[in-house]
Formats: sequence, C-alpha cells, structure tokens
Amino acid sequence: MSAPYAEVIGDPISHSKSPTIHKFWLDRLGIAADYRRAHVKPEALADYIESRRSDPDWRGCNVTIPHKIAVMHHVADPGAVRASIGAMNTVARAEDGALFGTNTDAGGFFAPIAGLDLEGRPVAVIGAGGAARAVLFALSKANVGPVTVLNRSPLKAMGLLATFGLQGSARPLDARLPEAALLVNASALGMTGQPPLDLDLSPLADDAVVYDIVYSPLETALLRAADARGLATVDGLEMLIGQAAIAFSLFFGAAPPEDCEDELKALLAQ
Ligand code: NAP
Repeated sequence: MSAPYAEVIGDPISHSKSPTIHKFWLDRLGIAADYRRAHVKPEALADYIESRRSDPDWRGCNVTIPHKIAVMHHVADPGAVRASIGAMNTVARAEDGALFGTNTDAGGFFAPIAGLDLEGRPVAVIGAGGAARAVLFALSKANVGPVTVLNRSPLKAMGLLATFGLQGSARPLDARLPEAALLVNASALGMTGQPPLDLDLSPLADDAVVYDIVYSPLETALLRAADARGLATVDGLEMLIGQAAIAFSLFFGAAPPEDCEDELKALLAQ
C-alpha cells in the first residue's frame, strides 16, 4: 500500500499554490503523506472522481476552476453548500468512506477578520463571481450592517444580496464607496493580467480594514493605496492559507502547525 495523499484538481493547474502549502505543513508535522497536482479537464471530471472514490489512499482534493460547480453532481452535500454558496472547493472522505463536498473559502476568508467588530457597520464588496459568493455568505453570518456590492454587472450583485439575505445595494464599479468599516476586493481586478482596480478610498471610515483576496501580485495597488491612507490591510494569502487549513484538517485529521505562518507566507510570496 502506498502513502496517503490528497490533490488539487483544475484545468489549468500548474499555477496552483496549494501543493506548496499542504506539503509545507505535512513536512512540519512529520506526516508521511503527499499532496499532488492533478490536471483534470472538464470532460474527465466524472472519471477522475470515480477512480479516486475506490482508492483507499486518496484523502480528498481541493477543487479549482473550472470544476467548482460541476463537482457538486458527484459527491454528497451534508452542509447544503449547493443551496448556499453554490460551489464546492474541497472534496473529502466521511468516516464511512463516502465522498462529500464542502466550501472552505468562506471560513478561510473570515478567519483573519473574525476579531473585528463589524456588527451593524457598513461593508463594501467588489465583485459578484464565485469568490464573492463565499465572501457574501460569510458576511451574511456576521451581523454586518448594509453591504454595498460594486460590480461590472450590478444586476448580478443584486441577485447575490438577495441570495444571502443581505441588506444593502448593488452599484456599478465607478460608484462612490460608502463610509464602510470593511472593504473587500473579491473581483479579479488588480490581479496579474487583469485590468487595474481604480477606487477612491477617501469615503471609507478612518478605522476601516481593506482586504484584497487577490494574491497575485501579493501587494496589490489597492493595498498600497489603503496603506497610504493609513488603513489596516489584509492580503490574499491570508484567505488562501485559511481555506487550505480547513481542508488540511479534513484530509489528514490534524490541524496545521501554528508557529510557522511567516515562513509559509515568505515561501508563497516567492
Ligand atoms: P470569477 O468567478 O470569474 O469572478 C470574477 C469577478 O471579477 C466578477 O465579479 C467579474 O465581474 C469581475 N471581473 C472580471 N474581469 C473583469 C473586468 N475586465 N472588468 C470588470 N470586472 C471584471 O472569479 P473568482 O473565482 O470569483 O475569483 C476572483 C479573484 O479572487 C481572483 O483574483 C482569484 O484569484 C481570487 N481568489 C482568491 C482566493 C484566496 O484564497 N485568496 C480564493 C478564491 C479566489 P462580472 O460579474 O461582471 O463578470
């Protein structure tokens, strides 16, 4: 019998930072297991899941573009993720060996800001794609005040506010920001190869936190502008590491080590 392993699946997959994170933690904890990349094309997803279902060494996989929605057809959904976030980013094995799916992006997003007092305070979110769904789901559980979602397509943003039962409004990307206590960029804007995100941060509250979930580049123009205004910032590696930590526990039955996050971040920033 070979060693236990987990994987990250996607098309393309070579860019994924997940193997770096999981292998770093496995190594630190001295767990004899592996974490691999698997290039799975859309038409091969069903066969992939069936082949891994019967492999006792396979502990599960992280799921990235373009499989986050399609994978929901192949695994159990005990947390009703399909009806809430509407996408899965992790598949793992239940105690009885059956495969189930979940979404660790919402928990990973919220972990770095769990200590903020956002109760009743206005929040602004840029984007209405897959990552924004996880962000808005998390915010819907956090008792925040009105949520302003700015998106290229405001109609899509309006639909998400309704889906997650959030009070607030949907606006185009050039709308003025509210006096928010938290601004989250959950769009692709500002990412390497994408158009820049050009926002006037002056309306934000003086104690606002600016959170950019984009992690390539790590220091985005948005975070630089927030820093220049003296605002606290959270970068995209925080969410990336946070969502991976929840998945790691599901795959390997152990929490990641807590004392080496700076070292991991330095490794990921290379
Ligand atoms: P997605 O589902 O494709 O959504 C993309 C979002 O960006 C949509 O709101 C889209 O607007 C907007 N957008 C894309 N191109 C645009 C353009 N040219 N002009 C204006 N708006 C544009 O992607 P996603 O999965 O949500 O990912 C979004 C970003 O989050 C990516 O940078 C990804 O790497 C990052 N992410 C980070 C983490 C983490 O752990 N840190 C996790 C997941 C995702 P429309 O709705 O109008 O199309």
